[in-house]
Amino acid sequence: MGKITGFKEYPRDIPPDRPAGERIKDYQDVHNRFPEERLQTQAARCMDCGVPFCHKGCPLGNVIPDWNDLIYRNRWRDALDRLLSTNNFPEFTGRVCPAPCEEACVLNINDNPVTIERIEQGIAEHAYEAGWMVPSPPKKRTGKSVAVIGSGPSGLACADQLNRAGHLVTVYERNDRPGGILTYGIPDFKLEKTVVRRRLKLMEAEGVSFVVNAHVGVNVPAAELRRKFDAVVLAGGATRSRDLNIPGRELDGVHLAMDYLPLQNRRNQGVAVPDDKFITAKGKRVVILGGGDTGSDCHGTALRQGAGSVTSFELLPKPPGARAGSNPWPEWPRVFRTSSSHEEGGSRDWSVQTKRFSGEGGKVKKIHLVRLEWTGGM
Ligand code: SF4
Repeated sequence: MGKITGFKEYPRDIPPDRPAGERIKDYQDVHNRFPEERLQTQAARCMDCGVPFCHKGCPLGNVIPDWNDLIYRNRWRDALDRLLSTNNFPEFTGRVCPAPCEEACVLNINDNPVTIERIEQGIAEHAYEAGWMVPSPPKKRTGKSVAVIGSGPSGLACADQLNRAGHLVTVYERNDRPGGILTYGIPDFKLEKTVVRRRLKLMEAEGVSFVVNAHVGVNVPAAELRRKFDAVVLAGGATRSRDLNIPGRELDGVHLAMDYLPLQNRRNQGVAVPDDKFITAKGKRVVILGGGDTGSDCHGTALRQGAGSVTSFELLPKPPGARAGSNPWPEWPRVFRTSSSHEEGGSRDWSVQTKRFSGEGGKVKKIHLVRLEWTGGM
């Protein structure tokens, strides 16, 4: 384990994010870099539990106590190898994963959890800077070829695994750049696109091919892929929206998140988006329906675009500040959370349902809401 008494000696410690007033003027990462010495101290807090519940929390089964111990001992290269044994892209998960491992951490029973996610990110960044993340193509090719449709996180991870196994992989992406939600969904202030491009470059150097502007079933016949490849993997994204079919939905000014967010990402990456195709919140009174991560991303983007006001509404009631008795550790805690975007301004309200929109001249002007009263427990 890290340091036997580490969890008793050191409190959880994370560097403060960039000041909100500064960061809403740009789209750069909201986080400050975590100095490595402090990261090692945080890794020393890991108790190397007999039953490491962090494993149960992590969908990847990351071997968390092992790399915590290695970081504490300053063995970064070994920590990287351990991390990469379960995680294709720690530089992504170390930034945008909701970190269920931390919620499940045993220290979280009566203390604050180990800063697992930031340690994960730290290992990945240390590795890139040390020059350890170099192309490592398979030693032998199998002669088999696979098409992967979709270049988001699942498509990329699938392509990476298949390539490592020696198959020749071609990834098809309907957009003009690969990366799916990593490139054209998650805002830059949570995941800078240099991080995505760095990984894509590495994968290309390892032998993975990318075909962009290729919407399989639309401008690339599916039959062509079945003819050309030994196998086809469907890893398309989940951009089918959950629409709100209420009166006034058709009014100009009512947008879906995944129509709105990618446009700003495009501009941030230097892709030209004409003004008449761009959706901007500049100077507008913005209402966001949905209090989850996507709503939060819209909230932070609207603030950066210079919205006159930003208000987020959530259908469900405001969660409690601490776990309810019916939601014990190590379950995912259904508690009140404040994202970096919410810290930056605007307001939020809960138990609010939208009944209809109304407008003038085809443009939305009003939103008609009711306050919900939830009964019978959630
Ligand atoms: S549950 Fe927490 S303290 Fe225990 S091994 Fe995992 S990270 Fe370390």
